[in-house]
Parts: sequence; C-alpha cells; structure tokens
Amino acid sequence: MDTAFNLDAVIRKVPDFPKKGILFYDITSILMDPAAFAHCVSQMVSRYRSAGLDAIAAIEARGFLFGAPLALDLGLPLQLVRKQGKLPGETVSLTYELEYGSDTVEMHQQDLRPGERVLIVDDLIATGGTVRATVDLIERAGGSVHEVFCVIGLPFLEYERRLAPVRVHTLLNYDSE
Ligand code: AMP
Repeated sequence: MDTAFNLDAVIRKVPDFPKKGILFYDITSILMDPAAFAHCVSQMVSRYRSAGLDAIAAIEARGFLFGAPLALDLGLPLQLVRKQGKLPGETVSLTYELEYGSDTVEMHQQDLRPGERVLIVDDLIATGGTVRATVDLIERAGGSVHEVFCVIGLPFLEYERRLAPVRVHTLLNYDSE
C-alpha cells in the first residue's frame, strides 16, 4: 500500500469559489492524474476489503466517482444518494438544514435493506450536514453505517462532533479555509 503518495500536491485549491472566502478543494485534478486516482482507490480497497460491508452508499455527485470503483473492486452493490427528484423509483428522503435554507437527500427505497452494513462515500466532508442526513436515512431504514469515507476532511468545521459516534476516515485533512 502506497501511503507515502503526496496527494496534497495533486489537489487544486481554488480561492473564492463558489463564493468569496471559500477555498475550494478541487478533486478534478485527482481524476486527471491516473496515479493519484489509483492511489485513492487502492487506499479504499485495502481499508475496506475485509470490513464485512454489504453495500456502498455514494453521495451525489463527486462521491459517485470514488464509490463506484470501490464497489466494483469489492464486488458490492452501489447505492446512490441523490438530490431530490433525480431517482425514478420509489424513494425515501430526508430534509436537513443548511446555513441558509434546507436540502433533501434521497435513496431508492428498495436499495436499503434492514440489517445491512453500509459504507458512506463522498469526496469531501465539510460541515458533515449531507453525510449526517445520509446516516439518518440509512439508519431509519434499519441499516447500520460502518464508517464514512471521504478523500478530504475539513475537521475545523466540526463534522466529527456532528457525526459521532459514526467514524469518519479521510485520506488527508486541511486545517483552514
Ligand atoms: P457538507 O455537507 O458541509 O459536509 O458539504 C459537503 C459537500 O460540499 C461535499 O460533497 C463537497 O463536495 C462540497 N464542499 C463543501 N465545502 C467544500 C470545499 N471547501 N471544497 C470543495 N468541496 C466542498
């Protein structure tokens, strides 16, 4: 396992995007670097190969990019967590508060099976609001969350407090925006 890979050097940082004061960590630069992308996926595969998972739940949209290769490699079902109105089948949904307004996450009801052990995958965790809503959706359906995996974590936004006791694993963290 190549833990020494310098992923930080690959991630493009874009100041003042999408609005002033936000430093945006752009994972498209990982996707454009096959060695960096392979590093992320192999780190995930080795961490979760023997974790006893039943499914991967990937969060729209950038979470799909990391959740899909992991699910394929581990031979596990891939559940999509989407914004409202995108999934065609019968859905379960959960609305959560944002700084201004609210947002809703949805999953296909038939994808969520009671008793399943699920790994949640996204590209980056900031406040943890989206992931919190996803945890609640899975737990309401009778599933359990093994852990949350994100390539990047911004722990100063206190996602750990919001998600405890669910664990969050990241490949690298940044201290400030
Ligand atoms: P949150 O619900 O606050 O944890 O926000 C998580 C989502 O917003 C992730 O799916 C990220 O793609 C995106 N996001 C939030 N802050 C940033 C940032 N500074 N750089 C890149 N993406 C971000």
